[in-house]
Amino acid sequence: MATDTYRCLHCQDHTVARAFDVSHISMTCPVCESFERLVNDRVVEQFRALENSSPESLDWDRLDRTEKLFVAERVARRGRDASEFSVAGVSDDTGTAAGDASGERPEPTEASGDESAEDTGGDEQTAD
Ligand SMILES: [Zn+2]
Repeated sequence: MATDTYRCLHCQDHTVARAFDVSHISMTCPVCESFERLVNDRVVEQFRALENSSPESLDWDRLDRTEKLFVAERVARRGRDASEFSVAGVSDDTGTAAGDASGERPEPTEASGDESAEDTGGDEQTAD
């Protein structure tokens, strides 16, 4: 039975084999205990290949990790050419180039209890 290997993006160490071919699975990694995306290893390999060498039109270094994975997935699993992708309008530059992949912080979610409970004192009552 053909299986695909999925690799934890967080520790890049843990892999699982699954009998289906998808771009990634989401689960808690037993190694780093982080709820992570385990990405198809073919995508990870493509990702690494693009880190080493990517077409100029792609502007790889400007992409964030999610976008890089998106491109890598298209190339690895769908036979697309990386040079087909040119990502315009990527302005959200949050990544630091000095690669420490473990430095990612989960964002605290603020409860938005902002109910607009305005007093519309305009109830009309029909006086009888
Ligand atoms: Zn892990």
